[in-house]
Amino acid sequence: MKGIGDSPVATIGIAMHRIAPVSLRLVCAAFVAAWGIALVRGAAAPPEVEEDAAAPERVAVVVRGDEGERALEGTVVIEAADGAMLLELDDQCLELLQANEIRSRRSVDAPSSPATPREEGKRILAELPEGFDLLVTRHYVICFDTSRAYAQWCGALFEKLHDAFINYWRKAGVEVEAPRRPLVIVIFSDRERYEAHAARDLGAAADRVVGYYNLLTNRVTTFDLTGSDQLARRPATSAGRAGLEILASPEAAGLVSTLVHEASHQMAFNCRMHRRLAPVPVWLSEGVATFFETPDPGGRGWKRIGGVNRPRLETFLSSYRPGVLDEIVRGDEPFRATEGAIDAYARAWALTAFLAQTRKAALVDYITAIGAKPPLAPDGPEERLQDFVDAFGVEPHELEQPLMKFLARWKD
Ligand SMILES: [Zn+2]
Repeated sequence: MKGIGDSPVATIGIAMHRIAPVSLRLVCAAFVAAWGIALVRGAAAPPEVEEDAAAPERVAVVVRGDEGERALEGTVVIEAADGAMLLELDDQCLELLQANEIRSRRSVDAPSSPATPREEGKRILAELPEGFDLLVTRHYVICFDTSRAYAQWCGALFEKLHDAFINYWRKAGVEVEAPRRPLVIVIFSDRERYEAHAARDLGAAADRVVGYYNLLTNRVTTFDLTGSDQLARRPATSAGRAGLEILASPEAAGLVSTLVHEASHQMAFNCRMHRRLAPVPVWLSEGVATFFETPDPGGRGWKRIGGVNRPRLETFLSSYRPGVLDEIVRGDEPFRATEGAIDAYARAWALTAFLAQTRKAALVDYITAIGAKPPLAPDGPEERLQDFVDAFGVEPHELEQPLMKFLARWKD
């Protein structure tokens, strides 16, 4: 019997944006493995895990690790035959528990009255540095230590994205549903405080990244972009004013697209489109996020979904060479490369936009097949290629010519 510890999934990604060194135009340049979970690589057989989607079990466990004993309570996402498990805690964080860490385990009943979004938010505030406040919107819990006006402006943007995202994919035929739990966003007042916090997740990359979605905590973390170095530092006094401050700047499109990009990742992993820690190819998750981020220099924040993403188009065309689609479909390495990651993002956008507009039914089949894979399921180049061929009927490189033809109409 294989346990979760034998899973080939050894790293967990964070979706992030980097700031280009020359201009402030924000570009998503990396999907990095910021931490590795101490899993054993190289097992030939997939882990035998049990999943009961109909009735997730709630358990109380005591685990012993390097820092002593901890008592945890949460929902079992998957459980291996040897007792190892992936647990979702009440704050939406995922914890992978190895069998030899678990001292005791017992089933418990779900709380009779689940925490309200405000109660959930208050729990998160307790983990954050001093000075954070809470804004609860229809679908979001926003923890912020910047002006309430900026948080409100972000909340309105996220709510707009939430509805647009669900509507677009539902209409396309993907079985998405509104997230059952409030989506958590953490906004720091300035870059320094944000970097100090983000360094825990991102390490040295924190100073180059203005926002990220963390698959383990399920949170988007960012900072008040109106307070960033290149923009005016005047405190906004109302939501409308904060919005105007952002949209008045020449960097507006990039700033807004950063927020939308990360919030799109969070939506995709919470509306049953993708599953956290499942083998979702990065080209697909980044393709979906870049498909929604479409910058709008005209000032409305972001244009209609699926429109041309001009920075990505330019990057795609200037870096194109035969075989690039096979590379991003077969593995995630191009997205993690120090050099050329930005090209991989452009390819993910181009492929997704092309498939969404010319082969939507097949794309829906593909998204559905990937979405059905459980967390920590086996993954590899051949499997990825087969999943692609099963949905689209051809290998990725066979789509390169039609893709170039499709993009030609956007060239000017
Ligand atoms: Zn991303």
